[in-house]
Amino acid sequence: MKQRTLKSVIEMEGIGLHTGEKMSVKVHPAYPDTGICFRRSDVECEYTRISPYTVTSTQLATTIQCGNQTISTIEHLMAALYGLGVDNAKVEVSGPEVPVFDGSAIAFVDAIVKTGIAEQAKARKFIKFKKRIRLEKDGKWIEIIPSRFFKVTFDIDFENESIGQQKAYLQVTPDSFVKELSPARTFGFRQEVEQLWQMGLAKGGSLDTAVVIDGDDVMNPEGLRFRDEFVRHKMLDLIGDISLLGYPIFGHIRAYKSGHNLNNLFARTLIESANYYSIVELPDNDPAQNYNLELNPQGIT
Ligand SMILES: [Zn+2]
Repeated sequence: MKQRTLKSVIEMEGIGLHTGEKMSVKVHPAYPDTGICFRRSDVECEYTRISPYTVTSTQLATTIQCGNQTISTIEHLMAALYGLGVDNAKVEVSGPEVPVFDGSAIAFVDAIVKTGIAEQAKARKFIKFKKRIRLEKDGKWIEIIPSRFFKVTFDIDFENESIGQQKAYLQVTPDSFVKELSPARTFGFRQEVEQLWQMGLAKGGSLDTAVVIDGDDVMNPEGLRFRDEFVRHKMLDLIGDISLLGYPIFGHIRAYKSGHNLNNLFARTLIESANYYSIVELPDNDPAQNYNLELNPQGIT
C-alpha cells in the first residue's frame, strides 16, 4: 500500500473554542514522508512536524508548539486525517487554535472526502506493536496489546446520570471511523463552562460547539447523536492524540478514563519503547491493507 495525501487544498473557517474568534484552517497536500505538519499563518512561523513531543499543554484540548507560537485543539482534525488514512499534509491555521465547528470531526471528514485522497509513489509504513505496553496514572490507565488491525476499547465512568458508565469497542477503519466516531461531539458540564467563561476561557463554548450537561440533563435541544456519544468522543480524542506517533498503528488500545494528558504520556511511552514495536510495510494482499471507504466492517459494540 502507498502513502496518501489530499488531492487538493482544503480551506475551512469557523470559531475557535477558546478564543471564540473566527479562525481559518487550510490543509495542503504534501510530499511522501512529510507526515503531518502545522504552522500559523498570522505570524512568522515555519512548519513543525507533529510528534508527541510537540505537545505543550493538554488542558481542555491538545496544544502543540509551533516555533514561538502555539496551536490548540488539533485533536479532531488529527483524528480525521488519521481515520481517513491521510499520511502527509501541511496544515496552516490563521490563529491560536483550529476551529472547533460542532465539537466533532465531521466538518473535517466531509471536507477531506469531498476533496479526495490521492495515492503517492512511496510505500506506507505502519507501527506494529509486538508486546503489551501499559501506563497507569491517578486511577486511569491505557495499554496497547498486539493486533493485526487497529482497535480501540474505551471505558468511562462518570457519576453524572446522563453519562454514567459507557464502554465501547471498535475496529478502526476509514468506514467505521466516519460512521461510528466522527459525529461524536465534545462535552462539558454547564457549571464548568461557566467557570471557564469567568476565567476568560472557552469563549466559543456553546450548544453549537459541544454537548452541554446541566445536572443530569443534556441541554442541547436536539439531544445526543448516539446513546453513548460521550465514550465515542473519548475514542475520537484518543485516536487524534495517538496519531501524533506519525504512523498508522497495528495494535489494540484499551483505555480506562483516559484523557488528553494520559494519551500524550502514553504516546511518548510508546515511542520510547523501541524494543516493543517495529516499523513495517505490508504485502498488498494483507487484509489489514483494506483502508478503503467501501469497507463495511462490524460497527461499534
Ligand atoms: Zn475532543
